[in-house]
Amino acid sequence: MKSIDCAKCKQMDSCCDSGAWVDLEEAKKILSLGLKGDFYHLETDKDFPSGYKVGTSYEDNSCSFITPEGLCSIHKIDYNLKPSYCKEFPHENGKLSPLAKSLCIAVKPKTKKIK
Ligand code: SF4
Repeated sequence: MKSIDCAKCKQMDSCCDSGAWVDLEEAKKILSLGLKGDFYHLETDKDFPSGYKVGTSYEDNSCSFITPEGLCSIHKIDYNLKPSYCKEFPHENGKLSPLAKSLCIAVKPKTKKIK
């Protein structure tokens, strides 16, 4: 699996543009931190340990936990509670995420300049 150094990214919040899916029980722990941010779109999903997932963004908005400086407010307070999906991105289940090519500048196809 190709390693990607997020610290070198000059567009650090682009991967948070569509938020993340979080297990419901994980979301309850994040809410207990009292941060500005919320969860939306409760859905059942057998791939999540509790059987339920919630999203961190409303409709097409960016993640509700992103700070005005483009940083993850959960990461700043308690890295352990940062959603697993976000810790692993741009990989997902050991492979490149299907969203990586549109959200991660390190793997986005480079566009050629038209002369
Ligand atoms: S939880 Fe943090 S890392 Fe994940 S999408 Fe939101 S701001 Fe980005």
